[in-house]
Amino acid sequence: MSDILDVKVNEFMAKVIAKNPGETEFHQAVKEVVESLMPFIEENPKYKQHKVLERMVEPERVIIFRVPWLDDNGEIQVNRGFRIQMSSVIGPFKGGLRLHPTVNLGILKFLAFEQVLKNSLTTLPMGGGKGGSDFDPKGKSDNEVMRFCQSFMTELSKYIGADTDVPAGDIGTGGREIGYMFGQYKRLRNEFVGVLTGKSLEWGGSLIRPEATGYGSVYFAQEMLATRGGNLKGKVCTVSGSGNVAQYTVEKLIQLGAKPVTMSDSSGYIYDPAGIDTEKLAWVMELKNIRRGRISEYAEKFGCEFVAGKTPWGVKCDCAFPSATQNEVNENDAKTLIANGCSLVSEGANMPSTPDAIEVYIKAKILYGPGKAANAGGVATSGLEMTQNSMRLPWSREEVDAKLHQIMINIHKTCVKYGTEADGYINYVKGANIGGFIKVADSMIAQGLV
Ligand code: NDP
Repeated sequence: MSDILDVKVNEFMAKVIAKNPGETEFHQAVKEVVESLMPFIEENPKYKQHKVLERMVEPERVIIFRVPWLDDNGEIQVNRGFRIQMSSVIGPFKGGLRLHPTVNLGILKFLAFEQVLKNSLTTLPMGGGKGGSDFDPKGKSDNEVMRFCQSFMTELSKYIGADTDVPAGDIGTGGREIGYMFGQYKRLRNEFVGVLTGKSLEWGGSLIRPEATGYGSVYFAQEMLATRGGNLKGKVCTVSGSGNVAQYTVEKLIQLGAKPVTMSDSSGYIYDPAGIDTEKLAWVMELKNIRRGRISEYAEKFGCEFVAGKTPWGVKCDCAFPSATQNEVNENDAKTLIANGCSLVSEGANMPSTPDAIEVYIKAKILYGPGKAANAGGVATSGLEMTQNSMRLPWSREEVDAKLHQIMINIHKTCVKYGTEADGYINYVKGANIGGFIKVADSMIAQGLV
């Protein structure tokens, strides 16, 4: 980037930082986007005149609320709830609810900001939002989780709706939590509507929604590899996380003949050089979704290595799928991945690579699919769930999977269109940011001062 553009980015960021002090993840996400958009905005002055970027970094609305609930000992607990309604310019606010002790305003604003561009990339009519709470479902009984979810939804229900804002799952919010929240919304409003996605099949959910983010990230990896005449067959893959996204990433990798060798949780990672197969994955799903145990138990059960307190990026691999959380791959990890021969990173998680790590990938010209493109399959399938709810008609597994696959192919095409550089290298960061931005920006201009 030229010096003049650098100055413009720094000036813009100085204002964002001054206005949103302490929100480091939000600053990080905005900076990455502004860096890739600045040259495009300079070439298209209408976006500058209409102050589109300045408006996009300001949420339409932020709701912060108290969530009191009773634990199993009858003691009162108090958490903080959030909903960031970032942009409704191309559709109702849409984005997940994160339940994790680290949740704060800055993390949710980064996620909501990314979500706006991601949802636009899917081509479906969805705005962007994100929410959650600093409540930790780990170690809580089902009854405690239910009481928290009911209290959370009692307040949140005032601000959401099938045509207004449609939350979904994220870290700590899976099928159980969505069920408790949906039940409470229905009681309060006396309405059976598609106000949440990620619902159970029996009451309005979509086939393939649980699988969608992981499957989508692997479909995106396939498209990236195809640009260099490659595929996933026989590729050794490292995966982080062992939650929803990681589980279905591993499942799709196995189906396509790749060899996933790691999974992790916040206590460390397992390395299974023989490969995680269908049977072992079924065991992990039972461990994580039903018994709610730790990944270290895998090492005991299948006789392999468990490395405590570490991420799996030191394990030699062809392709890496960060699928746990933000900033889980740093500069050194990125260098190690590349030194070990890794030629592809596809992000199932949101912003799992630090800016320094991204610089390393791009300098080495490896295939790098940033989260807002590679993990967009989850929200895209949420969009398909909303369509089915509106029609009151469910689609078959094959139909939803085919639509998901096509959406990932289209997102990849958009990235290629806007991200291909003079030497032929596809800069997916640039491609995803510009591709997502145009529709949102043009809609903002068309709708006047919104
Ligand atoms: P889950 O709660 O199902 O799983 C999260 C996994 O990541 C767990 O294994 C968890 O370990 C681990 N993890 C969470 N926080 C940390 C941390 N601070 N350090 C190390 N490990 C951690 O969440 P999902 O699989 O749904 O989400 C994973 C990522 O994918 C997130 O970045 C999310 O925003 C993103 N994403 C999810 C979508 C979805 O459809 N679910 C859609 C698009 C993106 P532990 O159990 O020990 O905490």
